[in-house]
Amino acid sequence: MVIESRTRYFEEIFPKSPSYRLRQFEAAFFTPGFRSVQDITTLSKGDREALKNCPWLSLKGVRVLSAKKGDTYKAIMTLHDNKEIESVLMQNARGHWTLCVSSQIGCAMACTFCATGTMGFTRNLTVDEIVDQYRFWMMFLEDRPELPERITNIVFMGMGEPLANYKNVKETIQTILKHTEIGPTRITVSTVGLIPMLTQILNDETWPPVRLAVSLHSADPKTRTDIMPSSYPQFLDKLYEWTEKYFAKFASRRRHLTFEYVMLSKVNDTSEHAKALIRFARRVGKVRINLIPYNFTGEVYRDSLPADFARFESELREAEVLVTRRRTMGDDIAAACGQLVVENSKVKTKV
Ligand code: SF4
Repeated sequence: MVIESRTRYFEEIFPKSPSYRLRQFEAAFFTPGFRSVQDITTLSKGDREALKNCPWLSLKGVRVLSAKKGDTYKAIMTLHDNKEIESVLMQNARGHWTLCVSSQIGCAMACTFCATGTMGFTRNLTVDEIVDQYRFWMMFLEDRPELPERITNIVFMGMGEPLANYKNVKETIQTILKHTEIGPTRITVSTVGLIPMLTQILNDETWPPVRLAVSLHSADPKTRTDIMPSSYPQFLDKLYEWTEKYFAKFASRRRHLTFEYVMLSKVNDTSEHAKALIRFARRVGKVRINLIPYNFTGEVYRDSLPADFARFESELREAEVLVTRRRTMGDDIAAACGQLVVENSKVKTKV
């Protein structure tokens, strides 16, 4: 039997149950040490028996790969319909873990530098399937006391376009905020820039105050459309108009905005591209540019030469644009940014 939502399953079995019991049930799935419904001793034995078909994780199987440095793990997770997704755990600068979750199987955006984009789109992930990526890694770390224990950050930068699965991503974030110690400023949702969905965020009072990152990758309209087929000629103007409304509505720095920029040799890393980016960043104002080293996903692109990367970065800095550079992690297990595409792997972990 496939149970798509644990909460709905509970409500179906106990339609007249007081709401505190549902809250106890939901919270139990985040309780350290609990591994099955039988561990939820706040429920009576009879209730646990009635819920015995509720799986502890909505995953059929998981294979885990570890990077040589031991600072990155990638899980290939098999879902109830035998489709697979990937999820990555990376050690962050503070010595804790940042978790990169997938929100869809495949992706319809087809960004040309991204391995997931070559898969096409299969389906959205359910709330439980996204939440359980976190819960799987929580249990993985519980079982390995030699590793740092805390997942402090979550980024929606795995497979899929999160805002194309808006409702489930929102509910996932609300669940994480409710049941873990992770705060909204430690969660980042990354998007290609779906303007209708970004606009929905502005009008949605229940959208959590998480950080947003827009994959810009070029401030030259033609270059952007070439590498991101979901783009279009007026995109930059539309994005600018959206940022004006975003900053007007959320004056707080907690909501600060990032533009992601993957560095592709001779494609978007020339001085002309830097100038276009500087002009756009100045127009937008309070934005951080995050330069991302390109991770090999095929023959079409090469990563920027170190000298070109450094020149591009310093051109931005000299123009007083706020710029950071992302560390590459897990590229030896194809867990680095843009490399997530399901493939065979060797290490198995029992669910
Ligand atoms: S970069 Fe993100 S939005 Fe683009 S194809 Fe890959 S997963 Fe989809």
